[in-house]
Amino acid sequence: MSGTAAPSEPVLILGGGLMGLAVAHQLARNGRSVEVLSRRRSEAAGFVAAGMLAPHAEGLSGELLRLGQASLEQAPAWVEQIQADSGLRCGLRPCGIVVPFASTAERDAYPTAAWGSALDRAGLAQEVPGIGPGWQAGLLFAQDGQIDNRRRLMRALERACVELGVRFQEGVEVLELLRSEGALSGVRVRDAAADVRTLQAAEAVLCCGAWSAQLLPELPVFPVKGQMLSLQGPREALQRVIFGPGTYLVPREDGLLVVGATSEHEAGFTEGLTPFGQRQLQAGIEALLPEASQWPPMERWWGFRPCTPDEGPLLGASAIPGLWLAAGHHRNGVLLAAITAELLSLCLAGKEGSAEQHSLLDAFRWDRFSN
Ligand SMILES: Cc1cc2nc3c(=O)[nH]c(=O)nc-3n(C[C@H](O)[C@H](O)[C@H](O)COP(=O)(O)OP(=O)(O)OC[C@H]3O[C@@H](n4cnc5c(N)ncnc54)[C@H](O)[C@@H]3O)c2cc1C
Repeated sequence: MSGTAAPSEPVLILGGGLMGLAVAHQLARNGRSVEVLSRRRSEAAGFVAAGMLAPHAEGLSGELLRLGQASLEQAPAWVEQIQADSGLRCGLRPCGIVVPFASTAERDAYPTAAWGSALDRAGLAQEVPGIGPGWQAGLLFAQDGQIDNRRRLMRALERACVELGVRFQEGVEVLELLRSEGALSGVRVRDAAADVRTLQAAEAVLCCGAWSAQLLPELPVFPVKGQMLSLQGPREALQRVIFGPGTYLVPREDGLLVVGATSEHEAGFTEGLTPFGQRQLQAGIEALLPEASQWPPMERWWGFRPCTPDEGPLLGASAIPGLWLAAGHHRNGVLLAAITAELLSLCLAGKEGSAEQHSLLDAFRWDRFSN
């Protein structure tokens, strides 16, 4: 790990979504000068996600579980920093997540079963009053939770960055990475007025989400579209997140119920809602919490997860000296934002870091697939 730029030279953040903001914030906290280049703020998956912090409920395993657990542990302190720097709340709720199953055998075979509390039908009905009749068992992961990314976290991160002097350039698309003698020398960008220009930079962090491979084709990142909707339920109707197969229900503090999500591998970057996707969510609501089918829909939206072949992110050094990677977080980017920001700020500071940090960076190298 070695930073190459003088500490006063701005680091360019390519992409102003969740990772771009989280990394920019941490770099600015470390005293670096930072500039965020953002093509379209509103298309960021950071505004799309359900905000679950769910390494256990998602049934992660191996290195991804380790990364997720490390980030979950850091989440409260990370959120505290953002709230202190921004003066805004992030909507962190350590509310626990319940995963329901059709049988106790399915429950006991779940990859993260050892991390949860086993529930029988009575226990399940106690944790989730009104849960559908098809569920006979459950796992409660009390350590998992959620954050209100769409309405709070993204705005708080932006505000924290601005307060720390981060410069934003919205409507600026990075067209090309420029190199000199193999190392990063800058980027070519097109602004909202269609003017093309060059920005010099010795260091940049690639945070272009699902679009990352458009700038660096060797990155194995591809989009997985997800459709979402929200319902206005009675306040306090649901305390825990319910994470069912294919559909999950995430209750915010004010009774808004965020419902997700389709997982469309064939959709590419096709924008928009589809009747099929919305019916799928409706069927999931009916199966998980029948009474919620009657709650009025508030909003419907979609976005693109940045997926990789093993569904883990690409973190740290790239093949181009001076270009760092924070991409490919697929369906766990909100969960992984805290640890990503920490690891990337370590890389750019050129510090040694702990054995644990080294080992995580090693586990999520961009070129691990070719080994
Ligand atoms: C439906 C859905 C539900 C999800 N639910 C959860 C969840 O519950 N929990 C969880 O942990 N994660 C969840 N995620 C995943 C999480 O949202 C993503 O992993 C995370 O937002 C990725 O962050 P990012 O910064 O890499 O990408 P994004 O947030 O998508 O940001 C990328 C940004 O880069 C910009 N950009 C792209 N190309 C260029 C370019 N050439 N020049 C300039 N800018 C560019 C884009 O405009 C965009 O704003 C969900 C995602 C989806 C889609």
